[in-house]
Amino acid sequence: MAEDVLVCSEDYWNFDFGRFHPLRPIRVKLTFELMKDLGLLEGSEVVKPREATEEELLTYHEKSYLEALKREEPNEAFGLGTEDNSVVSGIFRYASLSVGGTLIAAEAAYKGGVAFNLGGGMHHAKSGKASGFCYLNDVVIAIKHLLSRGARVFYLDIDAHHCDAVQEAFYEEDRILVLSIHQEGIFPGTGDIEEMGEGRGKGYNINVPIPRYSEDEDVLWIFEKLVIPVLERFSPDVLFVQVGADAHKDDPLTSLYLTTGIYAKAAELLRQIKSEGILITGGGGYDIVNVARIWSIFWGKIRGVSFPEELPERFLRIAIMEGYVEPTIWDIPGWSGLRQHVKQEIKERVDYLTRHLPFF
Ligand SMILES: [Zn+2]
Repeated sequence: MAEDVLVCSEDYWNFDFGRFHPLRPIRVKLTFELMKDLGLLEGSEVVKPREATEEELLTYHEKSYLEALKREEPNEAFGLGTEDNSVVSGIFRYASLSVGGTLIAAEAAYKGGVAFNLGGGMHHAKSGKASGFCYLNDVVIAIKHLLSRGARVFYLDIDAHHCDAVQEAFYEEDRILVLSIHQEGIFPGTGDIEEMGEGRGKGYNINVPIPRYSEDEDVLWIFEKLVIPVLERFSPDVLFVQVGADAHKDDPLTSLYLTTGIYAKAAELLRQIKSEGILITGGGGYDIVNVARIWSIFWGKIRGVSFPEELPERFLRIAIMEGYVEPTIWDIPGWSGLRQHVKQEIKERVDYLTRHLPFF
């Protein structure tokens, strides 16, 4: 059996977007340490990311954009130097490592392993423009690589934000199925339920926008009624999951009401259908304690590895400094007070999709 691979190195956290930027690369270090303390590195090989080659980057990005990014100077036409996409020294190498890291993980998944690139999931980067904290799109490049290897790919994106650039790149493609669950009405503004793909790709692009205050049981409903049946019927060679951690109830940039429990449940359900050939990346996530808990839980559950539920001493000390007080890896499920309204909306959307998709 192929070995599980965790792509990670200090290059992912020895980097700074500046004091006031919400994306804090230190979250990767915290995740890596939590995984280590929970025993989750046993049975998996830790591999350092490499920089992507020019040829690999050119499979998606425009040459003029790559040159602008390499110059590391603000350039409005390329989305560089904005509040979201600041230009800091070393940005090209940092973004390129993310792409190389996801390509390493993609190759391991293609060979049947389960692989997680903690530095990947940059699903907003456009072919010729930086966007939404993303500079180079490791997701699109890795999917293109897998398609060139002849693999069929199911891309599941559970980040709170819609994967606009990934949808755009594969909108007319039926060898890859893109399924995104995201909060409606927030950045980047795309991801409407009616955006279902075009040409031979019609029906292979699935969006489930969910209202703010959606809870664990709403997402569980979507998994049971939509994600799992579609996964079974599409039967991909590689399952690619972008595990953005910003759908968590305490994330400062979003308004969903999910707990760590749903990430565990999602991983368990996916594993029941597919336990080999899984590519995972991180993504958004702006509360670093929750990012570490979510990615650790997902890495344990998707591989069927058990782990302690108490937070280790070393992690807890950092968590307390960040304002987190629970000593456990799980959250107490919340209650938004809008149960019926949210539940009804989601049920209607899932019903609509099952009536319009070719898989039902
Ligand atoms: Zn996000």
